[in-house]
Amino acid sequence: MTLAKAVSMKYNKTIEKCSNEEIYYALLDMTKQMAEDKVSNEGKKKLYYISAEFLIGKLLSNNLINLGIYDSVKSELEASGKNIGEIEEIELEPSLGNGGLGRLAACFVDSIATLGLNGDGVGLNYHYGLFKQVFDHNLQKETPNPWITPDSWLTKTDITYPVQFGGFTVQSRLYNIDVVGYNNRTTKLRLFDIETVDESIVGDTIDFNKDDIAKNLTLFLYPDDSDDKGRLLRVYQQYFMVSNAARLILDEAVEKGSNLHDLADYATVQINDTHPSMVIPELIRLLQERGILMDEAVSIVSKVCAYTNHTILAEALEKWPIGFLEKAVPQLMPIIRELDNRVRAKVSDESTYIIKDGLVHMAHMDIHYGYSVNGVAYLHTEILKNSELNNFYKLYPEKFNNKTNGITFRRWLMSCNPELSAMITDLIGDGWKKDANELEKLGNFVNDDAVLDRLLAVKAGKKADLKNYLKMKQGFDIDENSIYDIQVKRLHEYKRQQMNALYVIHKYFEIKEGKKPATPITVFFGAKAAPAYIIAKDIIHLILCLQQIINNDPEVSPYLKVFMVENYNVTMAEKMIPACDISEQISLASKEASGTGNMKFMLNGALTLGTMDGANVEIAELVGNENIFTFGEDSQTVIDRYARGDYNSRSYYEKDSELKRAVDFIVSDTVKSVGCSENLERLYNELLNKDWFMTFPDFEEYIATREKAYTAYTDRKAWAKKALINISKAGFFSSDRTIEQYNKEIWKLS
Ligand SMILES: *Cc1c(COP(=O)(O)O)cnc(C)c1O
Repeated sequence: MTLAKAVSMKYNKTIEKCSNEEIYYALLDMTKQMAEDKVSNEGKKKLYYISAEFLIGKLLSNNLINLGIYDSVKSELEASGKNIGEIEEIELEPSLGNGGLGRLAACFVDSIATLGLNGDGVGLNYHYGLFKQVFDHNLQKETPNPWITPDSWLTKTDITYPVQFGGFTVQSRLYNIDVVGYNNRTTKLRLFDIETVDESIVGDTIDFNKDDIAKNLTLFLYPDDSDDKGRLLRVYQQYFMVSNAARLILDEAVEKGSNLHDLADYATVQINDTHPSMVIPELIRLLQERGILMDEAVSIVSKVCAYTNHTILAEALEKWPIGFLEKAVPQLMPIIRELDNRVRAKVSDESTYIIKDGLVHMAHMDIHYGYSVNGVAYLHTEILKNSELNNFYKLYPEKFNNKTNGITFRRWLMSCNPELSAMITDLIGDGWKKDANELEKLGNFVNDDAVLDRLLAVKAGKKADLKNYLKMKQGFDIDENSIYDIQVKRLHEYKRQQMNALYVIHKYFEIKEGKKPATPITVFFGAKAAPAYIIAKDIIHLILCLQQIINNDPEVSPYLKVFMVENYNVTMAEKMIPACDISEQISLASKEASGTGNMKFMLNGALTLGTMDGANVEIAELVGNENIFTFGEDSQTVIDRYARGDYNSRSYYEKDSELKRAVDFIVSDTVKSVGCSENLERLYNELLNKDWFMTFPDFEEYIATREKAYTAYTDRKAWAKKALINISKAGFFSSDRTIEQYNKEIWKLS
């Protein structure tokens, strides 16, 4: 079907006569229909990828690309004087995720569909998602982020289940979003909602009545967990998600002929981080309900469930107080106790028990009763095996495996950077779209001046695009001839945005002293902080204050500017990443499990400035030391220092005058004149007295390495060569590769 036909059927008029909004809705109908008409993936055994988040981003362009009709739609629009970019702006980004973990799940369902595997994503249909970030007086404010319109990508189904909580029952409803594979079949995102959800209990803020579960259950992702009510609500959400998932799994297996004793031949479950861990006792409970005895139920479920660990940050490995589970899901506690008793009967190492000190350790349940435990990058998996989960590794060495994360090149290259995609296809053909390893062929052009010039021109074009977009969105005045140095990711102390901010202060002083950079520098930040994460919000405050001070300082701003984009999300990422020169990946070594932002930047020809952490290690190995800028203490040094417990940030501050000058600036009159003393003092004290993520020991080398990168940038030809090498080596980070490994080594789908 052509767009003209779709538009005429829906509105009885021509494309020219339609508003952008009308065209968007016609395209939505048309694309949904085409997706429905595609063959869905089939097979005896099915994967259920259960995740609290799917950060899918806008779907229109991606679906058009994957359906193979993007170019024809674009030219149809152009012929009628319409611009596809403006129509994309109409779509609201689904707020079903938070950060890297949710984005990974979204890349995975794209690859599952593309590879023709029989697997669905299963999660929740949040109405307001995480939150929409707005800046007010240099502070983050959180507002609801509604995205569900009467017509949307969601399709309502007939599937509904009663879900029992302690003392009351709610009714669920399943909604589907079709996931279109690239030139292939489709699969589905299956999002459960609650029938009685009530959006009206939310006003202008993200505060709401946390008691009324039947109304609020699917309103927000990660409700504020700084109080017990918020934490309890998370338990309700998690159980609701997995109870629905478990019933869907059993129903679909039975429908295909399973007698449930053979469930493992029909279903495999990937538990994405610990949020869905209760699927293990819930499946056991439901199997018992259907007449299977405990021993066998445990053995069946242990052949069905596999667990992915995403972090070694202790606070992120969920532990729920027994009292919470007794209240919200009393039917699960006897099963969890029995699972714990079985561990106690066979294992002497108490550190691996599921129930300890009144807390249920969700990851422990996953590891004892899952058949696979994977980390998400080589270094991360090694740390899990050798330190973080060493006690479990000793029990079950055969369960542990690595699956280095990946990203879908459809969204993170073809869709967000058509200019670079076209250049690549001109050089090496379009085989890379299906087999990302073919990007290696770009290696033949690293000394080809014309190719390097074209690469620089593509980058310059994307930098101009970003400048225009941010002018329109936020009124920023960006120098497109400056170096674009970008750090965009969730705000967390371990990611060390604060170290980047300290660098900015350092540079500000240097320029004030007359030491001007050879090329002007634009430092971009984008990050949401969790609403209850005080220090993270203080770091945002500092960055926004620096933005105001520096950009308005006529002495400094010709050489250095700082911009923090509001509400960083997938849509913003797709604009920023193609325009980036330097990708900041500066987490404290050992703390970033993998990162996927690093991969997106590399693929778009940015050079990484980073620590030897997460997948940066693998990037460095692939591109070679000349094509990446690494610095900082290595993970073992960091792990050892934590073990000794003797880190003293003040001693670094006292012996490094440049560091001292930068840190002191946080509480200077200059910053306080545009900021809030309470926040600034708190951040200053945190750094000086704690600095838990050890920014000070790495600071000096960070400055030196960043200068080295800026110097390298001035040799444009050499820089372009490095960028091209990065692109040519990015094939390994395709999520198609990751998913092929999951399937071959874990899921074994038939
Ligand atoms: C890729 C992505 C992330 C993850 O970034 P990291 O640098 O790996 O933490 C977070 N948010 C959005 C919107 C993304 O697209």
